[in-house]
Amino acid sequence: MQNINEIENLIKLISKLPGLGPKSAKRIVLKLINNRDELIKPMAKTLAEVYKNISRCRICGTLKVSSIECSYNDCKILEKKYDKICVVENISDQWSIEDSNIYKGYFHILGGTISSVGQRKEDLLINSLVERVNRDKIEEVILATSATVEGQTTAYYIQDSLKNSKAKVTKLAQGLPVGGEIESLDDGTLFSAFKNRSKINPNSK
Ligand SMILES: [Zn+2]
Repeated sequence: MQNINEIENLIKLISKLPGLGPKSAKRIVLKLINNRDELIKPMAKTLAEVYKNISRCRICGTLKVSSIECSYNDCKILEKKYDKICVVENISDQWSIEDSNIYKGYFHILGGTISSVGQRKEDLLINSLVERVNRDKIEEVILATSATVEGQTTAYYIQDSLKNSKAKVTKLAQGLPVGGEIESLDDGTLFSAFKNRSKINPNSK
């Protein structure tokens, strides 16, 4: 293979995507190059638009159009639709839970875990979670972090951050496979983990 910088760079970038290694990255790049007008051109345009217009909400962590207020989680407006909030690590976890139809309530997306590499605690939106719980008089905070050491450390840290709030804090049932990430669970496992969640702050009602 000749060394063409542009191609090498593209392969390197694509192989950073989840589930892709250098081999599949090469196949993708070839596919792109062979379909310049159908794939590369619209993709470059769409990527630029997403970069420019889409960002994470600094309060609830969901994805939103940068120019408008976040409305998905009612995180700015005081319109109390639900009394539960489910805390997840990533947006893909929220999507899995929504798809399974087992939960109706607000979401709060941390954007990682406390011990993830390069993750700063202050970026995890834990302060804004505590503010939302108190402001919206949330009755139950469901911690749906992964059954990994990082996920459980994060859950413990959040529980501690909420110790002065009145909300009940619950955690998904231990039926989660060890190391299990929420987004990779099937609906049945997710359902029983939700159904059998347990209270972890004894002082709440
Ligand atoms: Zn928001």
